[in-house]
Amino acid sequence: MSNEEIIQKIKQLKEKHDVVILAHNYQIPEVQDIADFLGDSLGLSIEASKTKAKIILFCGVKFMAETAAIICPDKTVLMPDENAGCPMANMITVRQLREMKKLYPKAKVVCYVNSTAAVKAESDICCTSANAIKVVNSIPKEDQIIFIPDKSLGDYVSKQTGREMILWNGYCPTHHRILAQNIINMKAKYPNAKVMVHPECTADVIELADVVLSTGGMIKYAKESPDKEFIVGTEIGLLYTLSKQNPDKKFYPATKLSDCPNMKLNTLEKILWSLEDMVYKVTVPEDIRVKAWNAIDKMLKISQ
Ligand code: SF4
Repeated sequence: MSNEEIIQKIKQLKEKHDVVILAHNYQIPEVQDIADFLGDSLGLSIEASKTKAKIILFCGVKFMAETAAIICPDKTVLMPDENAGCPMANMITVRQLREMKKLYPKAKVVCYVNSTAAVKAESDICCTSANAIKVVNSIPKEDQIIFIPDKSLGDYVSKQTGREMILWNGYCPTHHRILAQNIINMKAKYPNAKVMVHPECTADVIELADVVLSTGGMIKYAKESPDKEFIVGTEIGLLYTLSKQNPDKKFYPATKLSDCPNMKLNTLEKILWSLEDMVYKVTVPEDIRVKAWNAIDKMLKISQ
């Protein structure tokens, strides 16, 4: 079957079953093109909370689909490939978090959304890379903060807010593939380019950047900036979005190695199979869902 035929079938099934397709900016171009909404974790969480569709087909990784299931308990949430996980989310378990909380019983837990539903349920408030500074600033100064699971984002937020935080030792393997030397080399090659990097990058990469932004922030910045060239330090899927939205500007990946294999598991064929067979359903046990919802809801109230 050609891509065109697959797309036609997807469109028919979408209409028949009242489906909205949400896709993350790190998806492959064909998947980005078929999405009703394209965005970062925060943008997609907000879209999930607003949609009237009965079924959400989430093209991203598992924690994102889980977040949609937490926000929308009355909807069916599907993901095209059940193996699309996030290594960073798996770097902290509920048991480990409980041990940490025992060590710092008065601390508030700020949990990056790149985490499992069960870990969110053990946390006080969630954050995304777009609102982490706002979330941390919302916590009273006298409270200690445990920041999980991303040590790089935590370190960046700590420097920006001046808040000392207890950081978990998790990280994104894809963003950590971007090295300071990559940025130095690219700056030498494209001296007029602005360097945008994601706060999941290591501190030495962040230090070399002109701006540090979430993926949603990068899209906005690239659109509004008078600059014509950009070196992009995040997952390379975003370059497709950036180039499509700004045909008169040039975007260079800091390194082509920043390619998340989990994000790339979703394909047009798998989207079609997902809609034909109504798989793979993502559900969250109600007791966990309610507690995780509290942590997400506190974040959404700060962000909207
Ligand atoms: S890019 Fe990093 S944080 Fe995002 S899904 Fe892949 S491994 Fe997880």
